[in-house]
Amino acid sequence: MPELFIGGRWTTAVDGQVREIRCPADGTLVAVVDEGGPKDAAAALAAAREAFDRGPWPATPPAERGRLLLRVAALLERDKDAFARAESLDTGKRLVESAYDMDDIANCFRYFGHLAAGGGSGRVVDAAGPKIDSRVVYEPVGVCALITPWNYPLLQTAWKVAPALAAGNTFVLKPSELTPHTAVLLMRALTEAGLPPGAANLVLGTGAAVGAPLTEDVRVDLVSFTGGLATGRRIMAAAAPTVKKIALELGGKNPNIVFADAAFDAAVDYALMAVFVHSGQVCSAGARLLVDNELHDAFVDELVARARRIRLGGPFDEEARTGPLISAEHRAKVAAYVAAGLDEGAVLRCGGAPPDDPALKDGFFYLPTVLDDCTPNMSVVHDESFGPVLTVERFRGENEAVALANDTIYGLAGAVWTQDSGRARRVAGRLRAGTVWINDFHPYVPQAEWGGMKQSGVGRELGPAGLAEYQEAKHIWRNTEPVPQRWFE
Ligand code: NAD
Repeated sequence: MPELFIGGRWTTAVDGQVREIRCPADGTLVAVVDEGGPKDAAAALAAAREAFDRGPWPATPPAERGRLLLRVAALLERDKDAFARAESLDTGKRLVESAYDMDDIANCFRYFGHLAAGGGSGRVVDAAGPKIDSRVVYEPVGVCALITPWNYPLLQTAWKVAPALAAGNTFVLKPSELTPHTAVLLMRALTEAGLPPGAANLVLGTGAAVGAPLTEDVRVDLVSFTGGLATGRRIMAAAAPTVKKIALELGGKNPNIVFADAAFDAAVDYALMAVFVHSGQVCSAGARLLVDNELHDAFVDELVARARRIRLGGPFDEEARTGPLISAEHRAKVAAYVAAGLDEGAVLRCGGAPPDDPALKDGFFYLPTVLDDCTPNMSVVHDESFGPVLTVERFRGENEAVALANDTIYGLAGAVWTQDSGRARRVAGRLRAGTVWINDFHPYVPQAEWGGMKQSGVGRELGPAGLAEYQEAKHIWRNTEPVPQRWFE
């Protein structure tokens, strides 16, 4: 069955290109999919534009749009196993993690479904006196280009598709070329839920051939992108000539600050989870451990002992605790960051190589790696390696902890571990990051905004602000008793 979805029809790529998708855990062929190009992007944009300008979706009452999103949530739950399996085969991540993601994805559709169904976000403005009706209404932005990465393929897509549809937009989705399958399944669910043709369009393909044309085209009103910093900068520049709205969710180099009074066992456990879950391929990964000098030795010894025991494996290995990296190129990039860190004086405490287990030789695995005695000037500390690499720095006192934590161009997330609630609150207040956890790491809820300060992005996803990204405010002023003003007399 063809995999591009344009104007409510499944179709192959105009130029007949295809791509092999292989599982990163063992290199097995998952499928051969259609690979679109600029002509397919243009056709999808024409369909999305037509559906926005003349189709029923933007004018569908918000309550009805909300009900459709709730039906999508129910379909995602019905087909959870198929979605989770597809996600795991594309990404190599453990099936159980893909299943968690599916729960979060259904919750995201449900949250925005209820938000839309609640309606009523417009307001009456009574600033101009009794003869004036003044209202502010929130309308869809228009045609959205949604461009998503490979690490949480459907989750990142859901954070865009659900609010975009809740607000009445139409869209063209371009998922990562490495992980296309759950986007295809989502188009089927949207169709089954009753979304009108042209409101949702899907073009598979590379960033250069499909993503870039979408970011440049005048028919696109908003680009919402999740991915790397370098691509985000390119998209911002590409969107400038036509002054598109942009929403960017970029990378992070997130500090995990552990004070000497932290609950030791929990702090070690979460420090491991923070950085090694999904082999570090998480934008909010706690990749920089900042540990109180007093606690350093005991904490890092215990952490390293536990990191050595982490079992690697493919999606269906029930004993595995984390999986492979996405590709050979990505693994080489991670290895290069580790090598640079060692050159610059970091001390390797564990990992630093692919595993030697012959059962893992066909996958892109890399051992959980801890680099001790790191300093802020090392590239492995300030750049996002996006792999299972933890750098350790020491601090003495609250001020130094905060200064080290904020010494980054990024500002996505961070955590502080202490049993002193005053200190926890002070440090949380001083961290320049869009999300701060106290005595925790990684949780989020669709009701709360997610996004980055500094170069981690522009705008917010999730929460009420996540819906607002996809809306335009319009002020409508009605003079109920117009009389001549004689301005020019
Ligand atoms: P990437 O930037 O390489 O690619 C992301 C998407 O952009 C892909 O679909 C790709 O094909 C497309 N793309 C590439 N070049 C493009 C161009 N010139 N124009 C338009 N589209 C283009 O990122 P990735 O490697 O897929 O994902 C990893 C990155 O994503 C990491 O940096 C990670 O931190 C970030 N990320 C951020 C969040 C967040 O919420 N802030 C969430 C997940 C991932």
